[in-house]
Amino acid sequence: MPIYEYKCQNCSRIFENFQPLTDEVIGECIYCGAPAKRIISGKVGVVFKGSGFYVTDYKKKEEKPERTEKNENK
Ligand SMILES: [Zn+2]
Repeated sequence: MPIYEYKCQNCSRIFENFQPLTDEVIGECIYCGAPAKRIISGKVGVVFKGSGFYVTDYKKKEEKPERTEKNENK
């Protein structure tokens, strides 16, 4: 039986829970009882990091050409 991780949408705690034969992606927080969303270990982090890296990378790409131009002009 697979173990899924849930992240509470109320207290933001992450906890593991067994998921029986159901596709329910909403669980119940074991800490406060609020709805908790099932997360796939690793995948969620990658998504967050990916978007963050994309923004950072995009900004860096914008800066680099400017620096290069300035250096070339000087
Ligand atoms: Zn909670």
